[in-house]
Amino acid sequence: MTSNKAHDESRQGEAYAPFSEEPDTYGKKFYIESYGCQMNFSDSEIVASILNSNGFGATRNFEEADLVLLNTCSIREKAEQTVRKRLTEFKKIKRKRPGMLVGVLGCMAERLKSKLLEEEKLVDLVVGPDAYRTLPQLVLEAGSGQKAVNVLLSREETYADISPVRIDTNGISAFVSIMRGCNNMCSFCVVPFTRGRERSRDAHSILRECRELHEQGYKEVVLLGQNVDSYYWLDEQNDDLVTFAKLLEMVALVSPSLRVRFSTSHPKDITDEVLYTISKYHNICKYIHLPVQSGSSRILQLMNRTYTREWYLAKVDRIRQILPGCGLSSDLISGFCTETAEDHRETLSLMELCKYDMSYMFFYSERPGTLAARRYTDDVPEAVKKERLQEIVDLQGRLSFESNKADLGKTFEVLVEGDSKKNKEFWMGRSSQNKVIVFPKEGMDLKKGDYVMVQVSDCTQATLIGIAIEN
Ligand code: SAM
Ligand code: SF4
Repeated sequence: MTSNKAHDESRQGEAYAPFSEEPDTYGKKFYIESYGCQMNFSDSEIVASILNSNGFGATRNFEEADLVLLNTCSIREKAEQTVRKRLTEFKKIKRKRPGMLVGVLGCMAERLKSKLLEEEKLVDLVVGPDAYRTLPQLVLEAGSGQKAVNVLLSREETYADISPVRIDTNGISAFVSIMRGCNNMCSFCVVPFTRGRERSRDAHSILRECRELHEQGYKEVVLLGQNVDSYYWLDEQNDDLVTFAKLLEMVALVSPSLRVRFSTSHPKDITDEVLYTISKYHNICKYIHLPVQSGSSRILQLMNRTYTREWYLAKVDRIRQILPGCGLSSDLISGFCTETAEDHRETLSLMELCKYDMSYMFFYSERPGTLAARRYTDDVPEAVKKERLQEIVDLQGRLSFESNKADLGKTFEVLVEGDSKKNKEFWMGRSSQNKVIVFPKEGMDLKKGDYVMVQVSDCTQATLIGIAIEN
């Protein structure tokens, strides 16, 4: 699984605690689990920073926590069910430890608001994604038995001045949030309702954060937003407009040894200027996550994606032209409202044409309040949605394997991220194209965070296997 991905199954429910923290520095302890997309994991780092400044230190053990937080996701029904199950478990623990406060953060908090407090009585506090600054006050209120809810969305909040406390899983790669919210109205999607209007963060604060990360030894930054290509910030002091292409360039110039990744791009917004900027800088990774959702123009129109199949294919051609060898991945949804067998075949054929290296694949899950829920009937039977999804997954498996086989014999610059999970005698790293490469440690003196040239000698569907040839 990659770290630069929309929704990393291996990290769902991950408990956070920085390794370096002194246990006695703080009077109280909080425990936080994160679900959903990278944005939530990044937000948990902001929440940790706010709580640290207010006397709460993190713990990995919820049994000793005064405050238990779940940073939640609403994107599909299953995501909400997972969180509900977890909340019921915490409710049981709370019976034994009534002083422990349980809070819901993120998209589910925003979607369900005080329902979680009043009707379902599952939690003590409910805090939406734009209200984290008020968390310490809400904790006090909840502690004194009051209803603690803040789900106000903001047009300005970007948490620009807050230095996130890193979820230090490898010390090599860090998320940097560059914008919040989304102004697109994809008809299936709940994000514009749970995360509010799109707003871009002050470019200077982004640069400052990237420089600090570089000074702390990080080797990669992942610029995050729901739609990074529409980043747009007016530098009033210098009367300068910072677009995403400009921002990418500014971050690339922090240091040639700091890799720059970004996620997610909307096909309608990624410009030639962005593609040329990626091509100009060696340290901007040659990898684009370009979710298509469906290969049928009719379905794309119902989804309100604002492009057709042909337009998307032309965009992919442009990427291949300006950035030969660039890694490409996608998000795909099977069984959207009215999808026919023919629409589904078009999705499969588009996948073949785009030759995606990897995809995140879902079956359609109707979300209350979205445009699709209000306008269309969720009429594809679940069994058909799942059957089609399986065909998409199988095809992606073949495409990923073919893409990996095409790399046999080639040499890639790899950033070493740590030990291979399966074999400690091997290093695991990633190419600029975001492919995972494992190779034997023996024979070369390397450490985490080094760059090394690796020649690919073998592969599986998910991993390249190689030999380090020089560093
Ligand atoms: N902003 C990004 C984009 O436009 O691609 C990511 C949005 S969302 C967090 C990640 C993915 O979840 C989407 O690209 C879509 O494939 C999937 N998704 C969103 N709503 C969904 C729904 N109602 N049912 C199934 N999948 C959904
Ligand atoms: Fe949802 Fe579309 Fe916005 Fe992505 S671009 S977050 S899919 S509305």
